[in-house]
Formats: sequence, structure tokens, C-alpha cells
Amino acid sequence: MEIKEYVKLRKSYLTETINNLEEKPHLLIIQVNEDEASNAYVKGKIKDLSLIGAKCTHLKLALNITEEELLNVIKMNNYNDDVDGILVQMPLPKHINETKVKETIAPIKDVDGFHPLSKCIACTPKGIIDYLKSENVVFEGKNAVVIGRSNIVGKPVAQLLLGLNCNVTILHSRTTKEDMNFYLAHADIVVVAVGRKHFLCDQPLKETAVVVDVGINRVDGKLHGDCAPNLNVKLQTPVPGGVGLLTRCAMLENLLICYNNRRGNK
Ligand code: NAP
Repeated sequence: MEIKEYVKLRKSYLTETINNLEEKPHLLIIQVNEDEASNAYVKGKIKDLSLIGAKCTHLKLALNITEEELLNVIKMNNYNDDVDGILVQMPLPKHINETKVKETIAPIKDVDGFHPLSKCIACTPKGIIDYLKSENVVFEGKNAVVIGRSNIVGKPVAQLLLGLNCNVTILHSRTTKEDMNFYLAHADIVVVAVGRKHFLCDQPLKETAVVVDVGINRVDGKLHGDCAPNLNVKLQTPVPGGVGLLTRCAMLENLLICYNNRRGNK
């Protein structure tokens, strides 16, 4: 199923579930930047939340807020019974430590899944794996290659694939071209999270491979993935309209998980 269709179905399910709840899940979005991309991401999140019938509060704070003041806002909302999830939009001003902020959010309200004790899986890795499962991709005993080893994408995706019994290889900027081609030629599942336009293009790939393109590269005002379009493989996620949509959807699912966990629901 196309990702757009899949996301539409997931959102219909969330809408129906929330419609049957007396209290609506409530997400607090804290933003401390004037970043154009962040404004667009926040706008998208607010739109999604409204669509599924969840509540949202968008708190835009002054750029000169101190780290301590921001941490206090988070702590206050950790104890606010009316708030089910807290999301701090990144990036933050340079004088604020992002790790400290992420670790101050109560794990039970951490919809981004960044806290080490969070009950949620980080949105991009979760979105990818849930979608591949819906496509009935076989994981057990299959060769998965993840290109990129960042803490927010590469490593957690690799960890999830390992948990699904794939043989996982993580490649990165120090991998030689020969080794890259060797591992790719044997891969059944390829996840590319590098941040370079059309990084994956003419390398050898199995025709039966599944390729997940995580990249978002803005070049000349247009969005491009890390993979050249129309690779000769069984399934390739598009950019735009691919992993970005899955990530947005996973955040909504995580909000419902936080909501249920706070109430001791299954
Ligand atoms: P990142 O932190 O910059 O990590 C990039 C990774 O790619 C690093 O591990 C780096 O290796 C590796 N790399 C760089 N050049 C390489 C090369 N020539 N060959 C092999 N590996 C190379 O990026 P990220 O946060 O993981 O994001 C990756 C991409 O996904 C970006 O385009 C980002 O915008 C996009 N993204 C999309 C979503 C979404 O929702 N669609 C979410 C998150 C990120 P080293 O570790 O050796 O430096």
C-alpha cells in the first residue's frame, strides 16, 4: 500500500479511537526557535492532532529564555495532569543543552521517545518498522543494511531490525566503497539515513530488496531523498511523501500510548 494511503488508514483508526474517549489526549508542544523548517513541522503536527481529535497546546517561548527557566516549564508540565505528552521542538538555542532538555521530560510523557526510559519508540524508527510490517516484509534471518549511525535514526532502526531477527550491518562514512557495494549487493532490507541527495543510486542491489529512504535534502528549493528515484528494487519509499509522513503518524500513535500508560490502560 502507498504510504499516503497507509497513513490515512492509521489516522482514521486514531480518530475513531479518540472519538470514543471521554477525555481527549493532550500534547504540549514547546518551541524555542524561529526556525522556518521547525515552524512548518509544528504546523504539521498541530494539523494532524486536530484531525484526529486530540488537544494541542503550542507554547512558543522567547529565544532568550534561560536553560533553567525552560527546564522549569517542562517540570511543571510533567506534573500537569491535563497534559499527556510533551514535545520540545528541536533545534534549541545554543545556550540550552538539548540532552538535558530531552532527559527532563517525564518518560511517561515523552512522545518523541528520546528519553532513555521513554515508553515510546522514537518516531522515525517506529514509523519505518510499523510500515514495513504492514507491508508484510519478512525480517527473520534477512540481511538488513542501515547506512548512517545517528542516535535518532541509524542506531535505533538497526536495533529494532536486530530485535526482529535480521542480520544487521551498519555502514557509515568510514565504510569503503568496496565494502558498501558488497553489503548492499547482499541486502534484503536497506535503510538509508545519510543526508546526501541521491547517495544510493548506482550501487548493486537485489531486485527483491526493500529500500527505505529516510533522507530529506533541500536542494534548490526542492526536497530530495538519499536515494535516486525509481531504483530497480521491489519496494522503495518515496521522498517527499514517505518516511516524513510515517514519522508524523508515529508521533500521534505515541501520544495515544502515553495517554493510555498514564491511565494504566492496555
Ligand atoms: P546525521 O546525524 O547527520 O547522520 C548521518 C549519518 O550518515 C552518519 O552516521 C554518517 O556517518 C553517515 N554518512 C555521512 N556521509 C556518509 C557517506 N559518504 N557514506 C556513508 N555514510 C555516511 O543525520 P540523521 O539525523 O541520521 O539524518 C539523516 C537524514 O535523514 C537527513 O537527511 C535528515 O534530514 C533525514 N531525517 C529524516 C527524518 C524524517 O522524518 N523523514 C527524520 C530524521 C532525519 P558518520 O557517523 O561516520 O559521520
